[in-house]
Amino acid sequence: MKSVRLWSIRQSRWLNFVYEGIEATLVLLNPLLKRIGYERLDKPFAAIERTVKGFLFDSQSCGQCTLGSTGMACPMNCPKTLRNGPCGGVRQDGGCEIKPEMTCVWVNAWQGSQQIGNIEDTIKIIQPPVDNRLKGRSAWLRALRLRTGHKA
Ligand code: SF4
Repeated sequence: MKSVRLWSIRQSRWLNFVYEGIEATLVLLNPLLKRIGYERLDKPFAAIERTVKGFLFDSQSCGQCTLGSTGMACPMNCPKTLRNGPCGGVRQDGGCEIKPEMTCVWVNAWQGSQQIGNIEDTIKIIQPPVDNRLKGRSAWLRALRLRTGHKA
């Protein structure tokens, strides 16, 4: 929902703190999660993420979340699904080239990132190309596995 998505971008600073808190909690719980099995947990985690992130960010559940690096604006809402900045078609009023009624995702991402601060370590990071094989899977568990040195 557009109004909630824009609210989340305005609240990006503390939402990012919440995100970091979730990540720290998952790292603490990792031995237990590993014992239960990441594969077994993937579907329930993905369902929670789809509900929460779908409501707050209009997340498209790509399975490789960049919200913390894109000012809490989901880049998968860009009609071109660009993950490393805007195309050349952003309108003068900040509207999207393809959907003029929508503010360019990257205008929102820049605003949200400035609130979070530390842009060198967030929006300026080059994101890898989206891997469509991960769509619908849990991005949180994937991030946990990457952070704790397991296979993504
Ligand atoms: S204007 Fe922004 S949201 Fe629209 S296609 Fe280009 S980069 Fe994507």
